[in-house]
Amino acid sequence: MFYSDSHIHTNYSADVPASRALSVDDICRAAIGAGLSYIAITDHYEPDEVKSGVAAPFRFPEMVQDVLTAKETYKDQLQVALGIEYGQPYLEPDEIQPTVTAYPYDIILGSVHYIPGKPYFISRNYRELTEDERRAIFDEYLDTYNVLVHTEGIDVVTHPTYPLRYLLRQNIPFDMRDWEERLRAMFHVLVERGVGLEFNAAPMRVPNQGIPDHTVETFFRWYREVGGEIVTFASDAHFTAHVGAYCDRTMRILRELGFRYVAVYENRKPVFHKIEF
Ligand SMILES: [Zn+2]
Ligand SMILES: [Zn+2]
Repeated sequence: MFYSDSHIHTNYSADVPASRALSVDDICRAAIGAGLSYIAITDHYEPDEVKSGVAAPFRFPEMVQDVLTAKETYKDQLQVALGIEYGQPYLEPDEIQPTVTAYPYDIILGSVHYIPGKPYFISRNYRELTEDERRAIFDEYLDTYNVLVHTEGIDVVTHPTYPLRYLLRQNIPFDMRDWEERLRAMFHVLVERGVGLEFNAAPMRVPNQGIPDHTVETFFRWYREVGGEIVTFASDAHFTAHVGAYCDRTMRILRELGFRYVAVYENRKPVFHKIEF
């Protein structure tokens, strides 16, 4: 079985403190230890936050050099891909485009982490909101995600169930079947545009107090039903211990849903590996 992890962070991400040593080398060694054949280093670059001074400028040359060195160092044991996770890329296309062409990326991820002027999805207390307010948040998230799926220069869109993971963590059941039609339409756009959809396993690492999280599976069933075939696996690791975590379980879920291949990216093109055990 080919195990891959297409979404991993290092010290180049602003949400990984320097005190938590997490170099590209550390990640490569962890990946080899976890039995992976492919990893993509995809640190956060949120151009709107850099522009407003909330985040420090992204250290592109150092990050790129570290990953290219690792590619060479580990080439007999592990395929290392140069990637990046662009947060809210549609907000600052003029900041994004020069970096898209400046570096030899293998994979470019696009994400929605927040909506300008609103609290971060991760830091909201959903328990003090009404059902209608929670629904409004999800509505707004999907409106924004719909912008992301139309954004140029993105190979794979990430964590489609992002706000739901925080609702479930706060023990709030949420049925997103009311949005089925919109989600199917959005997945259809991905299929038409040849953009991949990421299966993000981060929620699997956080037990949600008894509420089964079938959300991700349901999303991928719909994606499959509209013809979706490009699925990448993402641990979204911010710790070495999380590199490749739940890849095996995810491959089994995908196979049950009818996917025969998992995708990895090389030179910004999907390469398909059979899911077999
Ligand atoms: Zn993200
Ligand atoms: Zn991430």
